[in-house]
Amino acid sequence: MVKTFKLNTDQTVDRAFKIDYAALLNEQQYEAATQFRGPILCIAGAGSGKTRTLIYRVARMLESGIAPDNILLLTFTRKAASNMLDRVAALVGNEGKAVAGGTYHSFAANILRKYGHYIGLKSSYSIIDEGDAGDIINFLRSELGFNKKESRFPQKKTVAQMFSKANNLEKTVPDIVSAFYPQFEEHSEDIERLHEEFGKYKLNNMLLDYDDLLIYLHRLLSTSDAARTAITTRYRYVMADEYQDTNGLQARITFLLAGENRNIMVVGDDAQSIYSFRGARVTNILEFPQAYPDCRIIRLEENYRSTRPILEAANSLMESAREGFKKTLVTQKGSGDLPACVCCEDEQEQAMFVAARILELREQGIKLNNMAVLFRSSFHAYQLELELKRRNIPYVKWGGFKFLEAGHLKDVISHMRIVQNPYDQVSWLRVLLLIEGIGTHSASEIFKHIRFAQNPYDLSTVKARAKAEKGLQQLSKMLASASSLVNSPPARLLEIVADYYFPILKERFDDYPRRFKDIDQLAIIAGKFATLSDFLTDLALEPPKDSVDEALAPETSEDETLVLSTIHSAKGLEWHSVFVIHALEGRFPSLRSLKSEPELEEERRLMYVAITRAAENLAISYPSQIWDPATGSLLARPSRFIEEIDSNLLEPWQIARQ
Ligand code: ATP
Ligand code: MG
Repeated sequence: MVKTFKLNTDQTVDRAFKIDYAALLNEQQYEAATQFRGPILCIAGAGSGKTRTLIYRVARMLESGIAPDNILLLTFTRKAASNMLDRVAALVGNEGKAVAGGTYHSFAANILRKYGHYIGLKSSYSIIDEGDAGDIINFLRSELGFNKKESRFPQKKTVAQMFSKANNLEKTVPDIVSAFYPQFEEHSEDIERLHEEFGKYKLNNMLLDYDDLLIYLHRLLSTSDAARTAITTRYRYVMADEYQDTNGLQARITFLLAGENRNIMVVGDDAQSIYSFRGARVTNILEFPQAYPDCRIIRLEENYRSTRPILEAANSLMESAREGFKKTLVTQKGSGDLPACVCCEDEQEQAMFVAARILELREQGIKLNNMAVLFRSSFHAYQLELELKRRNIPYVKWGGFKFLEAGHLKDVISHMRIVQNPYDQVSWLRVLLLIEGIGTHSASEIFKHIRFAQNPYDLSTVKARAKAEKGLQQLSKMLASASSLVNSPPARLLEIVADYYFPILKERFDDYPRRFKDIDQLAIIAGKFATLSDFLTDLALEPPKDSVDEALAPETSEDETLVLSTIHSAKGLEWHSVFVIHALEGRFPSLRSLKSEPELEEERRLMYVAITRAAENLAISYPSQIWDPATGSLLARPSRFIEEIDSNLLEPWQIARQ
């Protein structure tokens, strides 16, 4: 007779948990956070606790004895991922840090290093960014002779965008050209040809661009049973935040990762979908129940972030939305001040107003790091930045110009990249061009030699002009000692590269002292990584600090720094007081979007995201007129989004100069 042992697997019983989940979460949140098995879709508005639910869910899993290794948390930015895992760690201790978290791209990069060989990918592949892609396209274009065309061929950046759009929308390049770039229709065939060459080039040089990371990950998961089994055995519980901004491929990757475990939870808000220009599909949320007909659908209707007036303004804005599920959020938080709608005379007055008001709020006890200024495009903040500097208000800026786009940092990284992947042509060309006496032509010739050389770092037999000999020798010498460090932590390698590069830098830039400091900064970052490949992957995917300003901001002892951010980079975050600036037709909504209804809708959602970042205090401001030199037009109408919000819900402010 077989005896039956009854094992209670009901995880909803709070027995020995340190955290009182039921008290900290509302009923729906609690359900989502304590059910680990099976598919769950959580669809809910801004500030309703979606991210909080995920954080507590991970904590609960760890407390229930699930190994951190088995959990995968995907989010939209790395900042968001590390932020969430920090919060998990604060709840349950260091185990939280061992959970795998990151963006789809960074996850793909790691998985491909480990399992890429199942689909013939060497683990030493390099990741190229948009700038590198542009350089390669330029190179191929001249190889193909397309630069000699009489009529205007699209610029390298535009071509790179076409390729990426084709990937993200899963369309052919000619389709993309005719749909989005009809002005280049006559070049469609050539562009397609260039696309093929670009693909071959990347393959031959072991280069992956951002889109390739997802494409290869998908290929790995869908074609290699062995790899998929290994991966899904490891990551048994998969979660994705901000699911409304995933594209079609990411959705399919999500399904493959969930695999037979089917322990998958995605959360999102269709009203906050702001990346359709990159192929994000709100429909991923709608289609989730089709992929998993047995999924639990959890809706969160209560907003815990914003005061009633702020939320009412947000709801009112979305009443004019053309599409989407209608959902009106309610808040438990009491009343508060009406959001201010501030008309300023010009850009400068707007900057002065924002700075002065920030100081006023600070006087009232609100810390700078509890305030943020948000804008549609990075350049909208220039004037304000000057004003903040003038008044000594410390700030960081997110979005816009990236730390690593600075030429000197790319130079350093390129040297490190050829140590990792000696066939990385883009990096070689960059490195060779830094040597005196070497131009584009000889650089390509030298690379041909390198590609077939026994030892690619030995440049002694390279034919070059006499003027270049010394430089090549020094490079060769440096690479000889650097190449032995390929499997060591990157800090030492960076030192060697920097020693070699400093004289070049000094020769090239008048402001070299400032640039030296950037490289020091990079060295500090490098010090945090155990392997070169981790370091390079990390940098390529998303610089640890979003912008030069941020990376170089002095580490203040208290966290008293104001945030300036593009709205895209502010996703998922919240502040006590928020300023939305440049709410002006032509700026926000942007000039480009005025002609297309879907784009306008996306701008509206962007405004919704901006407004819903505010907890207590919101000011939307605009200069009453500005001259836009780029288009030669006068912008002089407040944003239509201000007009769409019921006028009783905003308090008009005017500026009286004293
Ligand atoms: P977004 O759509 O902007 O990403 P979200 O739905 O992810 O927002 P969260 O950021 O998780 O929302 O939560 C918003 C705020 O509300 C946070 O400060 C969070 O701690 C708080 N909050 C959420 N749920 C609760 C709750 N049940 N009790 C107390 N505070 C809560
Ligand atoms: Mg969130």
